[in-house]
Amino acid sequence: METPDSETQASLSKAIACLQSKAPPSEVLPPTTAIVHARKALAPRLPSAGLGLQGTIRHLQEDLTPAFNESSRSSNYYGFVTGGVTPAASVADNFVTAYDQNVQVHLPNESIATDIEDRALSLLCELLDFQPEVWPHRVFTTGATASNILGLACGREYVIAEASAHRTDAENSVGEYGIVDAMHRAGIDKIQILTTVPHSSLSKAASILGLGRASVKDIGQQDAPHKFDTRMLKNLLEQSSSASIVAVSASEVNTGLFATSCLEEMQELRKLCDMYGAWIHIDGAFGILGRVLDDPQYASITNACAGLELADSITGDGHKLLNVPYDCGFFISRHRNIAARVFQNPNAAYLATSNGPDSIMSPLNIGLENSRRFRALPVYASLLAYGKAGYRHMLERQIELSRGIANFILESDTYELLPESGGSTEEILSGIYIIVLFRAKDEELNKSLVDKIKATRKIYVSGTAWKGKPACRFAVSNWKTDIKRDLPLIKEVLQSVADSS
Ligand SMILES: *Cc1c(COP(=O)(O)O)cnc(C)c1O
Repeated sequence: METPDSETQASLSKAIACLQSKAPPSEVLPPTTAIVHARKALAPRLPSAGLGLQGTIRHLQEDLTPAFNESSRSSNYYGFVTGGVTPAASVADNFVTAYDQNVQVHLPNESIATDIEDRALSLLCELLDFQPEVWPHRVFTTGATASNILGLACGREYVIAEASAHRTDAENSVGEYGIVDAMHRAGIDKIQILTTVPHSSLSKAASILGLGRASVKDIGQQDAPHKFDTRMLKNLLEQSSSASIVAVSASEVNTGLFATSCLEEMQELRKLCDMYGAWIHIDGAFGILGRVLDDPQYASITNACAGLELADSITGDGHKLLNVPYDCGFFISRHRNIAARVFQNPNAAYLATSNGPDSIMSPLNIGLENSRRFRALPVYASLLAYGKAGYRHMLERQIELSRGIANFILESDTYELLPESGGSTEEILSGIYIIVLFRAKDEELNKSLVDKIKATRKIYVSGTAWKGKPACRFAVSNWKTDIKRDLPLIKEVLQSVADSS
């Protein structure tokens, strides 16, 4: 066995130090009195007799729920990308619990649940302007992380098969033989994931799937890190002993920027990937919703979303911009045959599905889980309740508020909009989606900026880092967003923090 030499160890500790420095130290906000109370009230151990239903409800309502964060219940929560819950989705989610349907096996004569799930997914395709017939492998997941695992798993299966096609072994499969044997049969010694500004979950997915975090290669341009360095991309794709998955970040969490900016760029990417048998996966956790927009004032977003339909697989999140309750993501892929090769749940006679006249596949054979929650119903209900126009309007209001915040920051003497860029105010604002990244110009204020904003308890923002320094981030993702109500409050908070420094 090889042991890491001192050079490797030094670079490892450097990498770890760099990672740690990315999380800016912050003066911790004290817990609210509600949190202090709730922590004391938590059951210290399992009661032998039980509190009974009424006692438990009282405990939940009086002790615990006051200590939850506002999160999606408030439109003034701009942390992470949380989304909210539309009223239709909320009602539907209660039905999900009440009826407790298990959507693992398609049993068309026993429950309509899997039909609803398939329909919800095809309605989602329509919402996002993807032809449902072109995306026959579609499934709900727990979130975008799980969808990214599915994307890389399908990509891994596909690129190995492509590499084997040049040989004689047409039936080579990671699902069947495992990654080591399959790579050996394919004559491949590396699977690389070529990407720009990847979400952290992509590395996690690579780790889980045995590809390794080190297989994720960030090949962004020097002065535009979100965009592919096409020359480097070509060079890496050309390596004959490697198979490649190209992962496109369609809106990155820190900046909201998209990896591609027009149809032609996606066409170019597709052409390249076809030449080398590479798989294209899109991480569009919240960016994919940009495809509902059609007004020219959102041209930079609609152009960035153009051509995403040329990908092999796509990740989307339900609990973010779709505003359904947590525990909902989705995954779509063009390759139905790959789905079965990766996810089939073989040799379980008791789970055998009837072969109905429809084309609906049992969810357990096309996704991660067997038994699982009926995640589709809130999506189905919410899409039906608000329609394409409702969702378009929802996103327009979120973008409008984001651009309003960005405009305030551009005009302010205290704050600075990130990433720094030239151009007119109009040009800068037209590139804003639902993320606003900024910092205080004064270094001292900047160090405590996020805490000071949170300490007002009027709005909530997330801290992050930009070029080694702390930065602050708004993510506007709640269906309740209303610029007339929300922008004055945000301005008031940012101004009061500026004045107090
Ligand atoms: C949020 C996010 C993820 C992870 O999503 P979860 O729903 O938290 O699993 C992945 N990619 C991007 C771009 C995201 O914004």
